[in-house]
Amino acid sequence: MGDLLRHYPRTHEDRRLKKPEAWGAPGSAVALVGTVKDFQVSGGGKDLLIGRAVLAMEGKSVEALWFRRRSFRFDPFDGMKKKLLPGTRLFVYGPWQYGPRGLEIRVEDHDFPTGEPSPHMDRLVPVYDLTEGLDGKWLRAMAWKVRGGVSEVPDVLPGAVREKYALPNLAEALGEFHFPSDLALLGRARRRLAFDEFFSLEVALARVRQVRDDGPPAPVCQPTRELLSPFRKALGFDFTPAQKRVINEIFSDMALARPMNRLLMGEVGSGKTVVAVSALLLAVEAGRQAVLMAPTEILAEQHAHGLSRILKGLPVRWALLTGGRKKAESRLNREALAAGDIQIAVGTHALLEDQVAFKNLGLVVIDEQHRFGVDQRATLGAKGVSPHVLLMTATPIPRTLALTVYGDLSVSVIDQLPPGRPIITTHWSKEGEALSAVRRAVAQGRQAYVVFPLVQESERLDLKAVLKGWEHLKEAFPDIPVGLLHGKLKSAEKEAAMSAFARGELKILAATPVIEVGIDVANATVLVVMNAERFGLAQLHQLRGRIGRGVHPSSFHLVSDAPSADAAERIKLLCQIKDGFKLAEEDLRRRGPGEFLGEAQHGLPEFRVGNLATDGPLITESREAAFELIKQDPSLTHPDHRALAEDVTRRFATRFRFAQVA
Ligand code: ADP
Ligand code: MG
Repeated sequence: MGDLLRHYPRTHEDRRLKKPEAWGAPGSAVALVGTVKDFQVSGGGKDLLIGRAVLAMEGKSVEALWFRRRSFRFDPFDGMKKKLLPGTRLFVYGPWQYGPRGLEIRVEDHDFPTGEPSPHMDRLVPVYDLTEGLDGKWLRAMAWKVRGGVSEVPDVLPGAVREKYALPNLAEALGEFHFPSDLALLGRARRRLAFDEFFSLEVALARVRQVRDDGPPAPVCQPTRELLSPFRKALGFDFTPAQKRVINEIFSDMALARPMNRLLMGEVGSGKTVVAVSALLLAVEAGRQAVLMAPTEILAEQHAHGLSRILKGLPVRWALLTGGRKKAESRLNREALAAGDIQIAVGTHALLEDQVAFKNLGLVVIDEQHRFGVDQRATLGAKGVSPHVLLMTATPIPRTLALTVYGDLSVSVIDQLPPGRPIITTHWSKEGEALSAVRRAVAQGRQAYVVFPLVQESERLDLKAVLKGWEHLKEAFPDIPVGLLHGKLKSAEKEAAMSAFARGELKILAATPVIEVGIDVANATVLVVMNAERFGLAQLHQLRGRIGRGVHPSSFHLVSDAPSADAAERIKLLCQIKDGFKLAEEDLRRRGPGEFLGEAQHGLPEFRVGNLATDGPLITESREAAFELIKQDPSLTHPDHRALAEDVTRRFATRFRFAQVA
């Protein structure tokens, strides 16, 4: 019985009776009730029969039409001929139009008034997504029958929460969600059912967080300023207010024995690296080791380049540890790490693999967190250490996703770029125009990237696209050195290409989207994306962040000859919107959370009523309620919370190892 009502309607049709004055434009579906004057069946071509009823309603006459396929075996209108006798009252629903004989309705559904309320007519009517073999009308009739019995559906939402957030009780919500009395009550019912979906997830997240907070302590890190002061002096710029705020948030977390689990979001170029370095130095000042991890070796190496600049002259022992290093060197580094001689290790996530031991790990910073598939925090737990963890991403995550997908984390946002950033213009260009921009830039002493798309699921094809593009560019620019960078190069080759480009020996770099994250060449002012229709909004925005990093105005060119309507829309949005968070929200709205998050769904449950793109305020409320509840009753042992505890465990225990309650 409950199961049937948990098969939610996909939408509702407004089948409330309306006078013709209120019918809206022709083509709108309307419901009416009238008296049958006449019913005739005529041929409508070789295969079609048309049934026509003349209905009288309030002095007006309406012609109702049914279209049926002819059959040699039976008369598809047999039953209707018997029932639609003159004088019969009839409900019809369907789109109306002006026909040759006046008002006309193409009937999608009809019903006979009984004097009792009907589930099918004269109301807001539920429409279901049908699984095979189920008839919508039958399902609706069944739901109508059982709607009174919903008190048998267990309501796991604590009464106090229901009252505080002015939510209807479950019986009312389910009844109204199927058969709403009016739109306001439908909205109220929807709010309750969506709240439930978010609430149980947030309870699980609050619980994950609670268990972690109660778990093994992390080291308390208090600044001595021994390293931080000279570091800041040597920087040559002041932190932006946003950086200061975020550093404060991080330092406050690290000053506690409760392990930090913070997500730092900031647009490309917003200055996350120096924030991360501040945290690394704080850990070192506190006598701890720290690691900085990047998703690829290229990026790890780039971080190492950056650190060698930033940490020059500071008494910090740090090292780059990547798989591409020589064996002997790598072994020595690992020993030094285990002995505590290396204070800061830079590398890829391979650093968390089993062979690597730390003496006293205090902080892990993970750059571009979304690129890591599985949850590294679990790995850390398994290694028996409980360091502070800072995740960084340049991919703006819409707030609703931050509260759900990353809902067990604290979130910091750098919402401000350092001053003096040049303008980046975005263009939907023809290939010729884009390459002219490249030529102009190079003539002025600047550099350019040309990015070729990922061809889905096939690294070999990716390679082909970029290799072909590279050849093409070399022909187009015979006088200019053009480099090549893609993920399949050996790491020494990558390093060579990268550093030649960084030194300005290569003027143009043909690349796959491996450059999407992190690469930082201030002199590069033009970025061309070939076949831009193959890229998502967020990815294009990331690529845009590779330019405009120096002092020179920069331009971003999207080349796409025959984009689909959807791709054209994406390109236009990029031309209009600069703000990554706005683009991300747009992307979420357009693609939905599953597509938006891609492979790494991070244990997000399916929301059947709730909508991550539009339910921001409701998510905030449900989260507040959940965290408050877990604060008061961490293990959900109170009798009022028992049903909730079971529900949360059933749904989330395998997803979140810590969600198990009571
Ligand atoms: P992100 O990692 O967020 O993309 P980075 O940390 O690489 O950004 O910073 C981009 C550039 O801006 C770097 O060259 C960095 O030195 C510089 N930078 C960072 N913070 C500031 C600041 N407050 N003022 C001026 N330049 C800054
Ligand atoms: Mg960075």
